[in-house]
Order: sequence, then structure tokens, then C-alpha cells
Amino acid sequence: MRIFSGIQPTGELHLGNYFGAIRQWVELQHENFCIYCIVDYHALTNESAKPEELRHNRKELALDLMACGIDPEKSILFVQSAVPEHAELCWILGCVTSFGDLARMTQFKEKAKGQQFVNGGLFYYPVLQAADILLYLADHVPVGEDQLQHLELARRIARRFNWRFGELFPEPEPILGKVPRLMSLADPARKMSKSYGPDHYIGLMEPEQEIWRKIRTAVTDVGLTPGQAMSPGVANLFTLLELVAPAEVVEEFRVAHAAGRLLYKDLKETLFRYLMEILRPVRERRRELEGKEVVEEVLAAGAEKARKIARQVLKEVRALVGLD
Ligand code: ATP
Ligand code: MG
Repeated sequence: MRIFSGIQPTGELHLGNYFGAIRQWVELQHENFCIYCIVDYHALTNESAKPEELRHNRKELALDLMACGIDPEKSILFVQSAVPEHAELCWILGCVTSFGDLARMTQFKEKAKGQQFVNGGLFYYPVLQAADILLYLADHVPVGEDQLQHLELARRIARRFNWRFGELFPEPEPILGKVPRLMSLADPARKMSKSYGPDHYIGLMEPEQEIWRKIRTAVTDVGLTPGQAMSPGVANLFTLLELVAPAEVVEEFRVAHAAGRLLYKDLKETLFRYLMEILRPVRERRRELEGKEVVEEVLAAGAEKARKIARQVLKEVRALVGLD
């Protein structure tokens, strides 16, 4: 398979990103051709993005990804804006994209809600995302569930381009992880996300006591009785526990919940303990990498490899549409 996926340098890497996407990125790189992109053009749609922060976040995110196991020897890791072909293909693909389709995107509606100034980039975001994927003729995209609608649109764009100008792009398929949608611990009705603020995510590299605070104060429910259905907050804690703890431990807690004798404090303490076990090696690798100053070289080499492919594909695109 030819794999492409991206992540925005808009803040810390969190458990939703990790279990929803990055863990699959790592697994896939062993047997596939993988291209992983830090999508800084996308991050500009974020009204509060400051130039210095953006520069800083890109580097930090590259380090985080490498600490999670993205291996630059196996995969191409690069920053989107180092390959300006993304922007050119975005424009061309915009001309085979339906306005009505864009207007239906739920992420746009959600992110635009409550903002005073809604920039056009936010509306056009899914076209750039389609360009990111199609520029490398990728056929599979490991993502969280929130991206399925965008991916469906990328398929429609590919189809419409192929129909109008000639067969070129594969229709990319999603690869979902075991937990396609992890919820916020502070508000289990919303997905865990960087843009709702730090209380709504657990960062992989956060101080241990901060992680404990967020788990300790996670929303549950009051007055558990035998046979009671699981509230969304408790279900989310179980989802996390399943990701990090042995099956017997999860089962024990399930039985206790069903019997109405589960103490949420015990559940939270156990979750915290197992989660830290999973995070510890990642955090250690992150500290090691920090001292090495490898990241710039890795990203430059990645951009060069990516650009070679991008140039070739764009050349074919330009010829097909009549620009060359
Ligand atoms: P933002 O709030 O800035 O959009 P984000 O937290 O949604 O940030 P992205 O960079 O948009 O992060 O997404 C990176 C990847 O992580 C995508 O594949 C996305 O589907 C996945 N992802 C993000 N949040 C979750 C979540 N809560 N559960 C599962 N996957 C998620
Ligand atoms: Mg997002």
C-alpha cells in the first residue's frame, strides 16, 4: 500500500492523535511505502496561530512523532510547506470540487461556529487535504473517525478529476485504528482535541502530575447502582483502560461496574498507572532525541524525497489539465 497521512502542528500530540492515528502510522511503516506530513499550511487556518509558535510546534511535533516510533529510515517525514506543490495541486483540485460538498463538511461547521472571523482557508481545508493525499498517489490513509467525511470528499475529487481529465488518481481508503474516536475527559460529548483547550486532551509529554489531575477530575457520574448503563464519561475511561491495561484487569472492572460496586477512584488510579507504563518509553525516547539535534536534517531529507514524487505527479497533472 502507499500510505499518506498528516497532522497539524497546532499544539501537543495527545492520546486521541496517538491511539486514533499515530500508532497505526508506526505499524504501517514496516510493510508499506509511507509518507507522513506535518501540515503547517493547514495550521494557518487556525486564527490564533502565531508565527513563532508555528515554527516551534513543527519541530516539536517532528520530535514527538519520532519518539512515538516514526522512523525516518523507513518513512518519509516532512513539513508540508517545504513542498509547495501541495498548494498548486490544491488550486487545481478546487476546480473539480463541488461547492455544495464543501458547504456540507461538519468539521468546517464546527470550527466556524462561534468565530467572529471565519477565514476562507477553513472552508477550503478539505481540498488541500485531498491534494496532500493525491499528490503522492496514496491509496490508504490512516486517520481518526473525524476525518472520514474529508476522505470521502477526497475520493469524490479524485473520481471527478479522473473522469474529466483522464485516469490518474487512486481513490484513497481510510484505515481506522482500534479506537477511532477518543472523547474528551472533561466533556465526554466532544472528541479529544487540541483546539478545545488543554483540559480537553491529555498530551503525551505532559508532566505526570498534570496527567493524573486530568484523569482524577474526569467526568463520571454519581450514584452507581447494579446494572446501570455506562455513562459516556465512564465508557471513555474504559475505552482508555482497554488500550493500556491487560484484558483481565479491564474485565475485573467491568464486573465491578455491572455489580454496582465500582469505585471510580480505583478505576482512575489503575488507568493512570497503566497509561504511564505505555507512555514512559515514548517520553524517554523524546528526551534522548532532544539532545541530538537531528530533527532539521530529518525534515530536510524527507522534504527532498517527498518533493521528487510531488514534482513528477504534478507534471502529469499539469499536462492532463492543459497547463503544460
Ligand atoms: P485540531 O483540534 O487542531 O483539529 P486534532 O486534535 O483534531 O487537532 P489533527 O491534527 O486535526 O488533531 O488530527 C491528527 C490525526 O489525529 C487525525 O488523523 C485525526 O483523525 C486524529 N484524531 C484527532 N483527534 C482524535 C480523537 N479524539 N480520537 C481519534 N483520533 C483523533
Ligand atoms: Mg482535527
